[in-house]
Amino acid sequence: MQIEAQKVVTLNYTLTDSSGKVIDQSNDGSFAYLHGASNIIPGLENALAGKTSGDALNVSVEPAEGYGERDPAKTQSVPREMFPEDAEIEVGMQFHAQGPNGETLVVTVVSVEGETVTVDGNHPLAGEQLNFAVEVVEVREASAEELDHGHVHGAGGHDH
Ligand code: ZN
Repeated sequence: MQIEAQKVVTLNYTLTDSSGKVIDQSNDGSFAYLHGASNIIPGLENALAGKTSGDALNVSVEPAEGYGERDPAKTQSVPREMFPEDAEIEVGMQFHAQGPNGETLVVTVVSVEGETVTVDGNHPLAGEQLNFAVEVVEVREASAEELDHGHVHGAGGHDH
C-alpha cells in the first residue's frame, strides 16, 4: 500500500542536525502519523508520498519546509521582575508568554544577566536543516474516526 492522504504510516526514523548530532529518534515502530493531515513537517510528509512499507530513504529538510526560519523579533529581553520572585530563572527554562501579535507562545530562557532575562520564542528547531533517515514500517487505511480527529489512534497514536 502506497503512502497518500488518509493513510496511517508507521515510521522508524533518526533525525540529525547539520553537524550530525542526533536530535530525535524512534526505532521501535512506536511512531505513527496520519498522512495529509499536517501531523509532521511538510518537507518530510512530501518526501514520503508514494513510498511503501520497507522503503528506506534519507530526507534533508530546509527550515522553510521544517520548523521555519528563526525570527529575531521573537527574541526579547525582559526585566527579571516580570518573573515570579521566588522562581530561580535559569537558561533552558520554558515559560508561556504573549507574542508580538498577541498569540501565546512558549519561550525559552537563553540568557540571564543581572536583572535582564533574554527569552527566545522561536521553535527550538527553527532555522535548522533537518536530516531524517527514515524507514517505512507499515502503511494502513485510516479509520473514519481517525480521519475525523485528524490523528492516529491506537499503537503509536492518541490513546483515547
Ligand atoms: Zn482522536
